[in-house]
Amino acid sequence: MRATLDDLLRQCPTGTLALPAFTCYNLEQAVAVIQAAESADRALCLLLAEKAFRGRAGEMLAATLVTLADRAHVPTCVQLDHVADLETMHKALDIGVTALMADGSKLTLQANTELVAQAVTLAERYDASVEAELGRIEGDEDQATGSMAGTMTNPAQAASFVKQTGAHALAIAIGNVHGTYTSPPILDWQRLDDIRATTSTHITLHGASGLKEGDLKKAITHGVVKININTELRRTFFETLTTATPVHAKGWNLLELSHSLTTAVRETAADLLSEAFSG
Ligand SMILES: [Zn+2]
Repeated sequence: MRATLDDLLRQCPTGTLALPAFTCYNLEQAVAVIQAAESADRALCLLLAEKAFRGRAGEMLAATLVTLADRAHVPTCVQLDHVADLETMHKALDIGVTALMADGSKLTLQANTELVAQAVTLAERYDASVEAELGRIEGDEDQATGSMAGTMTNPAQAASFVKQTGAHALAIAIGNVHGTYTSPPILDWQRLDDIRATTSTHITLHGASGLKEGDLKKAITHGVVKININTELRRTFFETLTTATPVHAKGWNLLELSHSLTTAVRETAADLLSEAFSG
């Protein structure tokens, strides 16, 4: 059943579990992560990358994710990820997404605050939720490029930012990046604790791919309640495509190829659900 991000995060026991959020670029990935979540009896978030939404089939992909969320046997939210303009947000809300990631991290603090506040006003008309970003998580969400950590979240700004914007969740930069890491990441745990000390909003972690398993558990113990994962699912998809294509090429059997891809991604998601989203 479709759910809002805010509802799912409220139900997430802080310090013990985090909501799994998986980026889905196609039907195979989306079906796979939903099946994994249903098997684990866990709520989940389907992430729709902004570039995917802007692509030729973007609106159909959004509608597909919304339909899959409606049909899922576990509470499922659909979130348009990292979007910085209100028109795109509006379009996605009209299709039925239940959350936005209003990303003003490239803007000044004042402009970021205004963008998120406007996104919250817009989303509330649809009973949808808004996640914001304070500081800057570097890297590319859609391809594995190595990145160094960006501007860290300033704990002194977090409380007023959340209060002024009305954001339902806050993505933090504490040494995490999107994609892959150019050097082993060192997360600033004290900064996370300081952010949590100033605001009671839900804290989310992006760029979890490449972090040590222990780091994810530690992040949850320190209060992170949503973790975004993308790279692992894409890696599995491509590796399976490489091995399964020659097997199913005889007769061009798309059904079997699709089945192989869904099965492989489901197994990766199931492994992550059993290992990465509990403290
Ligand atoms: Zn992200």
